[in-house]
Amino acid sequence: MQLSSRLTQINGGGSDGWDLFVRAREMIRDGTPVTELTIGEHDIRTDPSILDAMHRAGLAGNTGYTEFSGMRALRETVAARVEAATGTRTTPDNVLIVPGGQSSLYAAHYAALGEGDTGLFIDPYYATYPGTIRSVGAKAHPIAASADAQFQPDAASIDAAAKDTGAKSLLVNSPNNPTGVIYSDDTLQGIAEVCQDNDLWLISDEVYDTQVWTGAHKSPRALPGMAERTLVVGSMSKSHAMTGSRIGWLIGPEDVTASIGDLTMNTTYGVCGFIQEGALFALNQGAAFEETIAAPFRRRRDLVLKQIAAQNVVRAIPADGAMYVMLDIRATGMSGEAFGNLLLDTHHVAVMPGESFGAAAAGHIRLALTVDDAKLEEALAKLLSLAAEQAK
Ligand code: PMP
Repeated sequence: MQLSSRLTQINGGGSDGWDLFVRAREMIRDGTPVTELTIGEHDIRTDPSILDAMHRAGLAGNTGYTEFSGMRALRETVAARVEAATGTRTTPDNVLIVPGGQSSLYAAHYAALGEGDTGLFIDPYYATYPGTIRSVGAKAHPIAASADAQFQPDAASIDAAAKDTGAKSLLVNSPNNPTGVIYSDDTLQGIAEVCQDNDLWLISDEVYDTQVWTGAHKSPRALPGMAERTLVVGSMSKSHAMTGSRIGWLIGPEDVTASIGDLTMNTTYGVCGFIQEGALFALNQGAAFEETIAAPFRRRRDLVLKQIAAQNVVRAIPADGAMYVMLDIRATGMSGEAFGNLLLDTHHVAVMPGESFGAAAAGHIRLALTVDDAKLEEALAKLLSLAAEQAK
């Protein structure tokens, strides 16, 4: 039997640049001690108090089907949180609870793009972006944000791509994975203007909104004229170390969230009730709790920048937010992939090659700040000595 082309084309063919990650996992399985700085998973687990809240809710009987759009109390809490953070009026009817940020990305693109439409996204990008756009039957079109412009998206390039392709949506992400960059006010303003000029849906992935080290996170939904065309992707994976609970949200105009309810009914059929109770409990712990979860990444980012400042071969991209630091290793004359593979073989340190996040990040590598401070410092020292050797 033949599979649909929509399914078989999700991964777009070709190498996805994740070979190094797979190889590192195999080495670990075979007993080699590898320092893993690849994926964005916290080195702590979900706080026991959140698990207790889930347990209590389950024992109290919250184990049945739930409202498709999410528990009213949770939608109210998310709406209040978003309104407080952005100053933009947000009601529970603007909020849809979904199983994780990835599910929200899918729902947003499903709402914005028809079969054969084009969805724009910024390169370098989070691994699933092109596949998510293709999974709704649309064409995924990357727009390079250049390393020389510190990976800030360029409004003129987005405008040109929108006009060229007749695109219907633009996906952006700040704080950014993989670069750690936070979009400047000018970048956000430029994006808003391009969306309005070209009648684009803006899909704003804000899953790292609690991991901000310098400056401030600003949601483009708050800019004039943007609330009616912006779909915000939110998640508790990063903010509350709840990756495995699969809980997040989509914020959008009321008619859009109501329509996406039809998609939910015919796909996930809602989100597990006791997980939602755990999420509600977690959000009610307030900003101080979120800062505790973010603190190790802030501390490790400072450690990395200090070590980088003590040499002059490897350069750090301004790491304003998110749990990653992107390093420019072009002075070694190597690709990110070649350097990453050599680092894994010679020093048993695994990082993500920039190329796995798109052509714009060639000659870079990404560190996930997800091991303890001493291990991270040791791994970075090895990385820097290898880079110095190669640059000779
Ligand atoms: N967006 C970005 C930029 C991410 O890095 C991730 C996870 N690494 C997601 C969305 C999806 O996260 P989740 O589905 O766990 O909420």
